[in-house]
Amino acid sequence: MASSILETLDIIADKIPSLDSEIIPIENAVGRVVSEDYIAIFDLPRFNNSAMDGYAVRINDASKTVTSSEVIYAGDNPTMTLQNGTAIKIMTGAPIPNGCEAIVPIENVTQDNEKISLPSDIQKDHFIRMAGEDIKKGTVFLQKGTLINAYTIASLASQGISHIRVSRQIKVAIFGTGDELRPHWEKIETHQLYNSNSPMFLTRSRELGCDVRFIRTSADTIDALESSIKATLDADIIITSGGVSVGDKDFTKEAFTNLGMQVLIDKIDIKPGRPTIIGTINKTIIVNLPGNPLASMVNYELFVRAIIRKLSGRIDYRHGVIKTVMQSEYSVRGGKYAVVLGKFNGHSFGALKTQMPGMVSPMQEADGLLLITPDIKILKAEQAVNMIPIKWEFYSKLKEELFSK
Ligand code: AMP
Ligand code: MG
Repeated sequence: MASSILETLDIIADKIPSLDSEIIPIENAVGRVVSEDYIAIFDLPRFNNSAMDGYAVRINDASKTVTSSEVIYAGDNPTMTLQNGTAIKIMTGAPIPNGCEAIVPIENVTQDNEKISLPSDIQKDHFIRMAGEDIKKGTVFLQKGTLINAYTIASLASQGISHIRVSRQIKVAIFGTGDELRPHWEKIETHQLYNSNSPMFLTRSRELGCDVRFIRTSADTIDALESSIKATLDADIIITSGGVSVGDKDFTKEAFTNLGMQVLIDKIDIKPGRPTIIGTINKTIIVNLPGNPLASMVNYELFVRAIIRKLSGRIDYRHGVIKTVMQSEYSVRGGKYAVVLGKFNGHSFGALKTQMPGMVSPMQEADGLLLITPDIKILKAEQAVNMIPIKWEFYSKLKEELFSK
């Protein structure tokens, strides 16, 4: 029996484990997912320091003229104590001397040699950056399951961390099925067709951080399929397309089942892409997508992307949505849980005019997709919709409302 879109996503959430981890230099970690909590081993800043080039002063010297003869630079380790009636010149980032109650920026004083006239309003601790105000010692500054970006690297480096434990890269193997298919680097006859799905999934999976390879298209025989499967069983995910519907040569499921596939999902209540199968052979996750390019793309974006996120151990593995409105009216056939691809201009969603399951060219235009319920026949202009983005990686820890109603 077909599973619903939401059931399928829940099964992915429940059944897909996260991969084991490895330790890598932080400079190589952008795009990877951290696999343990990182706890600050010291305060950042480590010591109270000046936020401005200015003078270290005492509050009760406000509006007085004080003397200043010393200077503290960033990198100094001052041992003096600030006395009433004096100020110490101090540079941004330099440690605050004992007895200092505030910093007065250089532009707020008048200076006559060693005589410094201070303003009347000096507030306690003003322009002092306190130890630990950025990262507090003992607190989690990077949570397990977080995607690492360049700014995460700054936090790690600021804690003196050179290597980080991350989920290992996901190994993906891809192959197409179909006697009519040829690779794009060969000459073909008019009755043949280039395999456009495999290079599409290869590059998309790479874009999502996976280590991907694809093997030549499998012919439509059980033997050929089984040998393609055996050649890829060391992968974490095998993605195939084609041979999953009711045609006479649709042997994909049979071949995988012969090799021990445990089926998690057999057909999904979605248009396009209903014949999709998700299963496992030992630890390898199998996704058999339909052959029709746009149908397979839609199911990749909804389900394979969710599997990749879950495997990589992310806490925000659920789809995020962007709440927007329809640019103009759009009619759908109704009666099915359906997907509408469209462009997003920052204000509204413009459904693609043509988006048939067997097409190739509309896919590159799609910024996101809408999920709609069978009762919907028309999406009106300005109607509120929830777009699942494709061109931006935007995920959620929560089960968002994925359908547009
Ligand atoms: P199938 O699911 O095998 O019945 O294929 C459905 C349609 O998708 C047929 O028109 C196939 O020729 C086409 N198709 C299958 N695999 C691919 C592929 N890898 N690249 C492009 N088109 C494909
Ligand atoms: Mg086929």
